[in-house]
Amino acid sequence: MDPIESILASVFGFHQFRGLQEQVIRHVFAGGNALVLMPTGGGKSLCYQIPALVRTGTAIVISPLLALMHNQVDVLNQRDIAAVSLDSSQDEQQMRAIEQRVLAGQYKLLYVAPERLLQPGFIQLLRTLHERHGIALFAIDEAHCIAQWGHDFRPEYQRLSILHQCFAQIPRIALTATADLLTQKEILQGLAISEQERFVASFVRPNLAYALSDRPHAYRHLSDFIRKQPKPSGIIYASTRSEVERLYRQLRILGMPALCYHAGMSHNERQSAYRAFMDHDQVIMIATVAFGMGIDKRNLRFVLHHGLPRSLEAYYQETGRAGRDGAFASAHLWFNTHDALLLQQRLGIGQSADNAHHQNRVSTLLHFTVHPECRRVNLLRHLGENSLPCGICDHCRNPPTALDATEAAQKMLSCIYRSGQRFGARHLINIILGIRTPAIGSYGHDRLSTFAIGKDWPPYYWNLLLRQLLAEGFILGNADQPGLALTTRSREILFDRKAFILHIPGDSAVSTATHTPLLQALNAWRASTAHRLNVPENAILEDQSLIELARLKPSAEDELHVISGLGLQQTQRFGAQLLKVIASCASS
Ligand code: ADP
Ligand code: ZN
Repeated sequence: MDPIESILASVFGFHQFRGLQEQVIRHVFAGGNALVLMPTGGGKSLCYQIPALVRTGTAIVISPLLALMHNQVDVLNQRDIAAVSLDSSQDEQQMRAIEQRVLAGQYKLLYVAPERLLQPGFIQLLRTLHERHGIALFAIDEAHCIAQWGHDFRPEYQRLSILHQCFAQIPRIALTATADLLTQKEILQGLAISEQERFVASFVRPNLAYALSDRPHAYRHLSDFIRKQPKPSGIIYASTRSEVERLYRQLRILGMPALCYHAGMSHNERQSAYRAFMDHDQVIMIATVAFGMGIDKRNLRFVLHHGLPRSLEAYYQETGRAGRDGAFASAHLWFNTHDALLLQQRLGIGQSADNAHHQNRVSTLLHFTVHPECRRVNLLRHLGENSLPCGICDHCRNPPTALDATEAAQKMLSCIYRSGQRFGARHLINIILGIRTPAIGSYGHDRLSTFAIGKDWPPYYWNLLLRQLLAEGFILGNADQPGLALTTRSREILFDRKAFILHIPGDSAVSTATHTPLLQALNAWRASTAHRLNVPENAILEDQSLIELARLKPSAEDELHVISGLGLQQTQRFGAQLLKVIASCASS
């Protein structure tokens, strides 16, 4: 059997390569260099780990993130692969000992921070290693750190040109999840990788299901939502600090494992919230977007936006934090018409010098929220990629119904006009439904000709209609006073009889049918095993494997090999225990 395929199955327990993995692996195996651009969770690690195992010598992996290095080493060691890291968490004596074993050729993979690699003594050590046992390859993780003007610039990365100067014949594989064309160019130049050796994957996140819905008022919905998740592990983004604190208090009162994070907290409070989030598997972070950069927790099962994000780009980045391990994860956006209005106002329509730019960003975002097509297709198109319908988002599962709402739109526009173009959604809907609130009485709005002309539609439809009118530019948030106003385009509907089609969402619930007692039992088994062996949970088995085990319920050892992520080593060590957990759940 082909050595590359046999390692994929026996060591990693995967049945097939993902995306560009195989191409990259064969290219590097044969001695080529590579720049690999894949979204987070795309499977970059395998691109250097498999060549590291099939080529002669030790692979040197350069990574700036200590926590990630440690996690990778744990994962590899659990699979019986000799891997180690040299980093600032070790003392001098430990480092010497590891270096001796490195020189004896005892490791297949060695992880080092860039500053350590660049020390003259270390380069010498690599030379000796190269002479004695060989170096399989250099992997440069987070390679975008090389870009001078990029957001994560690291000066040490620029000095990595030493690699091709000293070890010209050894393959260099650079990996990153974010690099625009300019940054890609800098990486290619800095590491002397040729133009043809660039492997750019799609930015589709196949395991991520997007779902948008109206934000319910009651907090109970939030706790219900969390209870329905396969596991309480995720991030909830709220737009303001006070909202974060309010949601946090509510969830704590309900006994949920919640943490909070925002820029108003002290440095120490934020640090400890961050640590607690990273250290616990089942915990929910409620945060403003200040909680963002550098979060790398791979097994988050959901991200919920409680309110609109700032832009579609931000939305992609923020939702992308869910499901980095490749297992099913969901991205929820809960918002209402008022949010849309506020966003438009906050970004200063008609006030800022970047007005056109802002307006564009807001309307792109609002458009995304109301457009009936597949959410992923829409999102990725804005990132410059054409993709196919995902099949798992709310729209794919439950396509919206199109309704000719031209007449209703005319009614609403005229209602906005007659009430003076300064009232918000709720008041307008009350007028059109004919509800005599005190405000309506005091403004005399019950005497408008549009009072009660929309009684045959439920409030929900009117809300949708307003939102869609807003998203499509037929009305806008008024800049100097609260409320909705007409635009130059309103007349297209009012007078030119332009058809207005309303898209009414189907039931937007994303199924999380995997939440079963067996899955819970498997989760508990993994937690205690990880605790006993003192390794992170994903080093035992990843979420995806547990989900498959819960679904397929294998009952004999030889059925275990169909489970993704169960390599030979894992099956030998844990197979019997897993079968026991499954059997005991089946009988109870
Ligand atoms: P990243 O690109 O973010 O570094 P990783 O290499 O950590 O991504 O991979 C993300 C997840 O996908 C991991 O849980 C990994 O085990 C899983 N994975 C990678 N390759 C495959 C594959 N060929 N089949 C199934 N799962 C895979
Ligand atoms: Zn879809």
